[in-house]
Amino acid sequence: MGRIFAIANQKGGVGKTTTSVNLAESLGATRKHVLMVDLDPQANATMGCGMDKHELPQSIYDVLLRGSPAGEVTVPAGECKFHILPADSELTAAEVELLEMESRERRLAQSLEPIRGNYDYILIDCPPALNMLTVNALVAADSVLIPMQCEYYALEGLSALLNTIDSIRRSANPKLHVEGLLRTMYDTRNSLSNDVSAQLQEHFKDRLYRTIIPRNVRLAEAPSYGMPVLQYDPGSRGAVAYLALAGEIIRRESETMRADGGSMAEGWEPKVPPEENR
Ligand code: ATP
Ligand code: MG
Repeated sequence: MGRIFAIANQKGGVGKTTTSVNLAESLGATRKHVLMVDLDPQANATMGCGMDKHELPQSIYDVLLRGSPAGEVTVPAGECKFHILPADSELTAAEVELLEMESRERRLAQSLEPIRGNYDYILIDCPPALNMLTVNALVAADSVLIPMQCEYYALEGLSALLNTIDSIRRSANPKLHVEGLLRTMYDTRNSLSNDVSAQLQEHFKDRLYRTIIPRNVRLAEAPSYGMPVLQYDPGSRGAVAYLALAGEIIRRESETMRADGGSMAEGWEPKVPPEENR
């Protein structure tokens, strides 16, 4: 049964889409079956794998609002090694239209259920807001992967996100937990990055991925060619880092399963960092 990760952070531009596309490709390169769900009306993930958002026969909007089966809307993501439930700008309307729907928070969870068994991993690229689309992702997900830049305001936003995860766990999705925090666009020469990184290490311990994604221009260039970095420049530091992240995720999962006698561990309880350390 596929594990569903919401890739979320309400802060904009922290590397959610870059992580969704490149982690999907890296997991695909290790022969895992991967589905990426583009849940952002900006449709950056859809375009980032070489698809034209203006030419989609159907999109995630049709799944959420018109009841189209997810299996019929899912397509291979261009030349990439994964499948995609693509998005287009129609999704902007969904944020409001969902409010009128029955089981409005569970539309995505219900839609993914029939196809979940076809995949090892389902990655959901969330929009930069804690809106109804993100709530749908958090209700559908087993866990949340949080990309973040190591800067002061990143920690401020983190507590709001952890509180939201906490409240969704209590109200709608008891299994939801933080899968891991990922340091993105990391610059080792920046002393603030190193300070924030040390704080994250202290608070989140083994929930902080050991893999760090460096600031790498190849990662920023690849989407304009409609490719994951592994196709665009497989030798780049960015490509190597996302492959390492895929390896860490797969390893972590097999360790969890061994420690747990075969079943999935419940996971880590999110705790907001103490005030003085934020
Ligand atoms: P949004 O909140 O708008 O959806 P996001 O969190 O999905 O943004 P991305 O779109 O992945 O963030 O990244 C923001 C910008 O930073 C993009 O132009 C992307 O190409 C660039 N970028 C992301 N990660 C890196 C990196 N490690 N090195 C260099 N540039 C990066
Ligand atoms: Mg994005």
